[in-house]
Amino acid sequence: MKVFITGGAGFIGSHLAELLVGRGDSVSVLDDLSTGEMANLDRLVGGPRFEHRIGSVTDAPLVSEMVDRADVTVHLAAAVGVRLIVERPVHTIETNVHGTEVVLHAAAKKQKPVLIASTSEVYGKSSKIPFREGDDLVLGATTNSRWAYACSKALDEWLALAYWREKRVPVILCRFFNTVGPRQTGRYGMVLPNFAAQALRNQPLTVYGSGEQSRCFGHVKDAVESVSRLIRTPEAHGQVFNVGADREISIRALAEMVRDRAKSRSPIVLVPYEQAYTEGFEDMNRRVPDCSKLENAVGFRPRTSLEEIVDDVLADQRLRQ
Ligand code: UDP
Repeated sequence: MKVFITGGAGFIGSHLAELLVGRGDSVSVLDDLSTGEMANLDRLVGGPRFEHRIGSVTDAPLVSEMVDRADVTVHLAAAVGVRLIVERPVHTIETNVHGTEVVLHAAAKKQKPVLIASTSEVYGKSSKIPFREGDDLVLGATTNSRWAYACSKALDEWLALAYWREKRVPVILCRFFNTVGPRQTGRYGMVLPNFAAQALRNQPLTVYGSGEQSRCFGHVKDAVESVSRLIRTPEAHGQVFNVGADREISIRALAEMVRDRAKSRSPIVLVPYEQAYTEGFEDMNRRVPDCSKLENAVGFRPRTSLEEIVDDVLADQRLRQ
């Protein structure tokens, strides 16, 4: 297959590109390097079946040319990370909504298939655990910037499904749950690379809020395996899938696990949300996926153990120290 990946120099995109090229697919990547890095593509640049362009996903002629040359597009380019979203809401909304518009418009010309990255954040404050794809979305007030991310991604989903219904563009939507692993940077606030870097330096592990809030962490290698299978599954067209692991852990317990596995002397400190983010910041208490729909569609679900995930992130952070 010829696969075009927007945001291919990013964390998930670069792992996906490596998996696909390694299995014999051809990959083209478009990235503006705003949060992605060329170093993520080191193993691919100059090799067979791989090409990359530096540019924006809002560059319609360029996107159209790259979509036309591929069999399928995987649209990962987006503004991500809670810190970035809180600090730059205009950029978040515009990039996430306009980029998806451009990709879908290009795909519609020849009805090319597109997989679009969405997020577990769209479930918002829902307390109906585990989250299933058909559940209601429970978002907070528009005065709180955090929800702009969920809302921008929810709009992407609506637009994609509208293209499927009205113009028969084959779309697949993936709601990624906390996806972690090597190459993810802590720069945009993500918890696991932050804890790993802090533990390796014997600095305090900064647990925001009470630390009672919980998440389920999935390994990026499982996320990209899921994507690779979904783009080869025509029955997935017009469908939304949760992509994540279902072992739930509190952030406090995660901090303890990272500290123990790193054999670190770091203390664990609680940092109030308003100090970590902004006044009035709202967190999500629990976030657990039901991945049975994914498993039924592609015969696979993310299963890498949290211990293995933490060890992989620690190993990656050691290289960055
Ligand atoms: N968090 C934390 N310390 C950090 C970074 C994040 O305690 O240094 C918390 C954050 O408040 C949230 C959870 O860890 O409750 C996961 O945060 P992340 O930004 O990784 O992903 P989210 O699930 O919020 O999208």
